[in-house]
Amino acid sequence: MLSDLVMAAERFRGEGALAPRSTKRRRPNWVIEVDSSGQGYLLGPYRGKESHSEITAPDRQRSGKISESNLKPYLLMDDARYALGIAERGKETEAELAHRGFIQLLEEAYESTGDRDLKLIIEYLRKPLADDVRQKVQPKDIVTFRNSRGEFPAARASILDFWSNYLAKELSAGVQATCSVCGQYGEVVRILPNEVKIMGQKCQITSFNLPAFTSFGKQQTTNSPLCYNCATDAISALNYLTQNPKHHAVIARHTGSGQSHPLRNQLAVFWLRQPQQVESGGEELDLEELLKGPLLGMERTGTPPPDLAQLEQLLRIPWTGEESATNLDTNSFHLAVLSANKGRLVVREWITVSLGALRDSLRAFLWATRIVGPRGEEARPCSIPAVVEAMESSDPNVTRGLLRTAYLGEMPPHALLEVALQRFRSVLLSGRAHNDRRYASESARIREQLATLHLLAAALKLSTTYGKEEGEKMEQLDRYATRPAYNCGRLLAVLEEIQLRAANWNINATLVDRFYGGASTAPAATLGPLVRLAETSHLPKIRRENRGYDRLKAELEEVMGRFSAAEGMPCTLTLTQQADFALGFYHQRAEFRRWRQERTQSNTGTTDNTSNS
Ligand SMILES: [Zn+2]
Repeated sequence: MLSDLVMAAERFRGEGALAPRSTKRRRPNWVIEVDSSGQGYLLGPYRGKESHSEITAPDRQRSGKISESNLKPYLLMDDARYALGIAERGKETEAELAHRGFIQLLEEAYESTGDRDLKLIIEYLRKPLADDVRQKVQPKDIVTFRNSRGEFPAARASILDFWSNYLAKELSAGVQATCSVCGQYGEVVRILPNEVKIMGQKCQITSFNLPAFTSFGKQQTTNSPLCYNCATDAISALNYLTQNPKHHAVIARHTGSGQSHPLRNQLAVFWLRQPQQVESGGEELDLEELLKGPLLGMERTGTPPPDLAQLEQLLRIPWTGEESATNLDTNSFHLAVLSANKGRLVVREWITVSLGALRDSLRAFLWATRIVGPRGEEARPCSIPAVVEAMESSDPNVTRGLLRTAYLGEMPPHALLEVALQRFRSVLLSGRAHNDRRYASESARIREQLATLHLLAAALKLSTTYGKEEGEKMEQLDRYATRPAYNCGRLLAVLEEIQLRAANWNINATLVDRFYGGASTAPAATLGPLVRLAETSHLPKIRRENRGYDRLKAELEEVMGRFSAAEGMPCTLTLTQQADFALGFYHQRAEFRRWRQERTQSNTGTTDNTSNS
């Protein structure tokens, strides 16, 4: 992971997205121009974003009260306490210390680089401050220097090199070792040069001897020495990833009340070794952007993230971009799942995979989650956080497992089936989704219930059909399926629809509320009597009142005809069969909803022509 991060830093730096090592782009509030005779002229103030361009200047981590042992000045660009010794009220000693440190650092830099501008700045600073400087510049204002040609020494390459070496020396314990990333023998860091922020939590990493970094990447030893450059690069890359929306997604958030559980917060960061454009329909697409799709959350009532639909489409076609074919093997995708715990960074998952393998895995994953919408809407794939949220599972292994299925092509996690099955039943029995006769009158609660059932059905389909050919058939109602469990599920939905129509929807609880549990575990005993009730009482009523008798009768006969005469309905169902039952039920219900909607539309005469579409 560390070496991949170091490589990522190189890539981002090359793209200009990452500032040079140990620097930060900052705007000064004041610039002091020091001419070749050591005379200084105050320029400014610059306030607000437009006032002065950013300067790439030395930076380091600094916190706590200024003291003899905690000075940490920034070279050439710092606040006025450091740069000029301008004190906050009552903190004169601090400012004096800070300023002394600032000058000492300048002297060291001058000795090492021989940069003439530094000598002039030192000369300028040794003189008493000019009146205007003392009056106008505030202690926390950022100050830097330039020469009379308008050049900023703070941004000069030789100065930044010096700065890097200076910090490296300071942060190393004087221990020599071989860097575990670049393989160079030399001083290695004891203290990491910066911290990482994970979902608002700062992680202060004080040593690489942490399980966070060492338990992953089996090539790492328990103690992986790092040189200053590699350590800085890894941290900067990680910080860049956690701050750039294109490269991270929250895949689990602790939402409960009371005590906070930062470990339940999980942030995924991901990137490609090289950026990759893919051509689709004459359009150049940024693959990195699209690969985020499976990690995006989904509003339960909403539509899938656009990226996911686009990605799914893209995975179906051969990639024709000129270099795509060769890059499939050389380019790679990297993903880490991070949490912060008591200021420590926890790496929960680390995935690295070639683009070619990734494409196959993602395709298999998205296809396996594709399932018709709860109202018969076109089948679509589902994202991982959406499925995890629908399951309300706090088991981090389920999330991890799903990630590994999506990105590495591993089998779906075992727990998925059981958790999704339980949730499917409890969500189903928690609402009155059957009551909405028309789609337009659905309440928000019913919409949410339906969306959740959709995601749970996707989870069930994933766990039972992943990697199998029937995956595609199971996207929607399969009228020709002969699996008894699936047809038992269908049958229950048919019986419910018959009951609802017989009662003209004036009903509080349907037979699903009472019998789903029994029907999905012991179908023969439960469904037999219900079929008889439908045939003797409900269907005749539907026929009399003209509420769709022919269609319902045909559906019932079709499903009943799928059970073999010899064996009939099964007595009990295994866990996997119960999932099949749930899918049959879900598919059949979606079919009825679509039908209802069509009827409603054609009855009101508004969309006669499109009702068959
Ligand atoms: Zn190194």
